[in-house]
Amino acid sequence: MTLDMRIGHGYDAHRFGPGDHVVLAGVRIPHVRGIVAHSDGDVLIHALCDALLGAAALGDIGRHFPDSDPRYRGADSRELLRAVQALLQARQLRVVNADLTLVAEAPRVAAHVNDMRGFLAADLAIGIDAVNIKATTTEGMGWIGRGEGLAAHAVVLITSGSVPA
Ligand code: MG
Repeated sequence: MTLDMRIGHGYDAHRFGPGDHVVLAGVRIPHVRGIVAHSDGDVLIHALCDALLGAAALGDIGRHFPDSDPRYRGADSRELLRAVQALLQARQLRVVNADLTLVAEAPRVAAHVNDMRGFLAADLAIGIDAVNIKATTTEGMGWIGRGEGLAAHAVVLITSGSVPA
């Protein structure tokens, strides 16, 4: 049996601005700030899309869904994720697992992590146990520590082979 495995990494960051909520992995979370972004500013999904595109050697999210395209204004990032999943599926590539890290001082997301995992798993057509989301702060250091914005990292494994039981 051969198992063709490909790893991808993604990173995204967004600035806080006026508003009363943030959207993270498709979950709307009340917050004292909003996100400045062309789309819904979902850093977790944007990092995940870039990781998936990276693993498939398909470039990046900006190439497929350019900021300059008015179709993506206020876009629901879950739609972008499903579009990326379709690109992989068309190439017989399947997601094995995804591991995401949110870097932010606030909001706290622990109470939302299972909903977030469920949305991502549904969009990727994989089990929820193949999706991990964790969060950390920067202990008050730097731009994230000052609450200027938030960032996310994603690592994925994809395969064109059959996954052993
Ligand atoms: Mg982004």
